[in-house]
Amino acid sequence: IRAAARPTGGRWPLSRVLDVSDPGALDVRAIVTGGAGFLGSHLCERLLGDGYEVICFDNFLTGRPDNVEHLLVDPRFRLVNRDVNDFIYVSGPVDVVLHFASPASPLDYYELPIETLKVGSLGTFHALGLAREKRARFLLASTSESYGDPQVNPQPETYWGNVNPVGPRSVYDEAKRFAEAVTMAYRRKHGVDTAIVRIFNTYGPRMRVDDGRAIPAFVSQALRGEPITVAGDGSQTRSICYVDDLIDGILRLLHSDLPGPVNIGNPHEMSILDTAKLVRDLCGSTAPITFVPRPQDDPSVRQPDITIARTRLGWEPRTSLHDGLTRTISWFAGQLTESRQVA
Ligand code: NAD
Ligand code: UDP
Repeated sequence: IRAAARPTGGRWPLSRVLDVSDPGALDVRAIVTGGAGFLGSHLCERLLGDGYEVICFDNFLTGRPDNVEHLLVDPRFRLVNRDVNDFIYVSGPVDVVLHFASPASPLDYYELPIETLKVGSLGTFHALGLAREKRARFLLASTSESYGDPQVNPQPETYWGNVNPVGPRSVYDEAKRFAEAVTMAYRRKHGVDTAIVRIFNTYGPRMRVDDGRAIPAFVSQALRGEPITVAGDGSQTRSICYVDDLIDGILRLLHSDLPGPVNIGNPHEMSILDTAKLVRDLCGSTAPITFVPRPQDDPSVRQPDITIARTRLGWEPRTSLHDGLTRTISWFAGQLTESRQVA
């Protein structure tokens, strides 16, 4: 299938291949950088389910082997401890390269500013170089942070953004904006078949308890009965998407021929204070809410315009906030029980 059908200079007809009704019969090979992280682990799982052989490169900077331990029994899955800022070598054919390696939680990238800039720049060059060599489709995990603190709400892909290039968040925002620019340069100069997804705030199982992002913080605080830390007065907004919906949108983009950028996220916008109260209620907790200082350049509003995803990919989120949060809370409850038992 693979070598014979791949058009020279054109793109691998993945959409045709994936129409096969028995996914086990497929023989397509994916590289996922950052595959042991929150999103990467869900992505590896879904790709294996769709019939891919998956090689995951991760240096466990912010991810954990535990996230993909359950996949190791599958001979089509391989986990490689590798820093993608170093050259990436893979023998044999590769059909798709999904570049997800990067710290993503603000707490992580404040602590790891240089690592974040390096993986967005050097890591992206290496992942694109691999895609070029193998004539694979390349997908970059970019972010709503490319829009910075937006002055347009909701954000369409045509909005150029409002980023402070020297503020503490710039290590992430500018690394991703640079990664988008490199991706487009490889597309224009080298003809690499590329796609850029701008991912909006996503939540679900396998986020770290100490991740620092709003949902893991609120859920673990509510479950422990500790004060729930709302930044500022909590009037800033976010639009949160359940991980399964996000992965579905990403796979649709991968199997399309769209270059993007395409926003994938849930357009249901809520204030952070209301989000904290909802999480507390769903946890059945009476934990108090405490107001803490707001980080510098924290975006005031965020909502994806998903017109392109709806019309070109036939995608929209399906999981209700209630269902997504309930599943996430029960996963975190399991984690907290496990850590108490270990202690
Ligand atoms: P995460 O921190 O859980 O996962 C990132 C993974 O990348 C980790 O496993 C980490 O160890 C790995 N990694 C980091 N640097 C590396 C390097 N140099 N070499 C190899 N591996 C490296 O974060 P996440 O939430 O799963 O985010 C994954 C990707 O999606 C990131 O690129 C992030 O920017 C993007 N994204 C995520 C969200 C979200 O809401 N989760 C939103 C926008 C964009
Ligand atoms: N936030 C909060 N309390 C926390 C963690 C985050 O109020 O314990 C706020 C944060 O200031 C931001 C929003 O929640 O306004 C979303 O933050 P998160 O770190 O989840 O993602 P971001 O969109 O900032 O990348």
